[in-house]
Amino acid sequence: MTERIIPVTDLRKQLVLPTIPSPLIPATGLLADKLARPLRDLRISVTDRCNFRCVYCMPKEVFDKDYQYLPHNSLLSFEEITRITKIFIAHGVEKIRLTGGEPLLRKNIEKLIEMLASLTTLDGKPLDLTMTTNASLLAKKAQSLKDAGLKRVTVSLDSLDEATFQRMNDVDFPVSDVLNGIDVAHRVGLQSIKVNMVVKGGMNDQEIVPMARHFKGSPAILRFIEYMDVGASNGWKMDEVVPSAEVVRRISAVMPLVEVEPNYTGETAARWRYVDGGGEIGVISSVTQAFCGDCNRARLSTEGKLFTCLFATSGHDLRALMRGDYSDAQITAAIAHLWSKREDRYSELRTINTDGLSQAVRKVEMSYIGG
Ligand code: SAM
Ligand code: SF4
Ligand code: SF4
Repeated sequence: MTERIIPVTDLRKQLVLPTIPSPLIPATGLLADKLARPLRDLRISVTDRCNFRCVYCMPKEVFDKDYQYLPHNSLLSFEEITRITKIFIAHGVEKIRLTGGEPLLRKNIEKLIEMLASLTTLDGKPLDLTMTTNASLLAKKAQSLKDAGLKRVTVSLDSLDEATFQRMNDVDFPVSDVLNGIDVAHRVGLQSIKVNMVVKGGMNDQEIVPMARHFKGSPAILRFIEYMDVGASNGWKMDEVVPSAEVVRRISAVMPLVEVEPNYTGETAARWRYVDGGGEIGVISSVTQAFCGDCNRARLSTEGKLFTCLFATSGHDLRALMRGDYSDAQITAAIAHLWSKREDRYSELRTINTDGLSQAVRKVEMSYIGG
């Protein structure tokens, strides 16, 4: 029997004040970590709350009515998020993804989008500003998000079958509302909509082909994500992971696929296109084919801790620097120092030692640092 790990200490309360190196390290846009990986992508969790209880992310037994969410004054303010984003841009970040928890639950999120949309990358281009959402509020908010400057959106949807989807979101949320959200997002002009399906073996893997068929030829690109051992509360087991190779095999058996070149270095999804011209799918093989070698992503938790890996066990408290009397130059140097020491490659190590790692280390929840 596999043991279930429940966190004993609350990792959110760890106090780690980042080092400010002396002399200060300026931003050059050329920052590289120990494995020569640049910093290009920042995922910002804007809330740790969610109106879903997806079984693989915020299971009801842990995230129940007594669960202590962060108090409002712990959350980074929009001004703080914008300030820190500018510093990350100076280090070379070009892509910002707002996530959570459910980002559309954050009050006045449009205001934050407006503030971020006005920023440009080091070479003067607009930021690639996107959001991952469960789409429960998307139909209502798509227009205002677009007007505020959001470029793209990724929607999570794990099944088209009502009973399966409701078993996965665990709050009886209907499929039709998510599909409507996707339609409205498309209609208001949010570009290149992606749909993410986490595949959990024995739960929704029978939905792989129906989902592929539904989105084939539609404007949305469907991406299959291997169920990951993130956090400490989802009771992850390797035998519930459906390898991407199996996903491709099952779809290709009925709708033939060929592999396509990646769009850019560091793209997490491998691309496959339908031979008959019906568009493409993506597969994200976080478990069976780790892509740490190109990982240029940092994550900022809801309360401003920097995580240099999705599977990190502790974060670096940038909020403490922002709320202390530290200058932008000092915070810039602190981030440079942290990134230059980074050598995370959890998924690669997990591949080497499949069972051991997941059970041995205690990781933070995905709803806290964002997916
Ligand atoms: N609430 C939003 C949503 O669901 O789109 C944004 C936050 S959610 C944490 C971001 C992404 O992480 C979602 O696509 C979700 O399916 C994925 N995710 C959460 N837990 C996961 C797990 N254990 N394995 C793989 N993906 C997971
Ligand atoms: Fe909420 Fe997204 Fe996690 Fe589901 S995956 S519980 S929608 S944060
Ligand atoms: Fe990046 Fe960590 Fe995921 Fe590897 S395990 S791809 S280093 S976030």
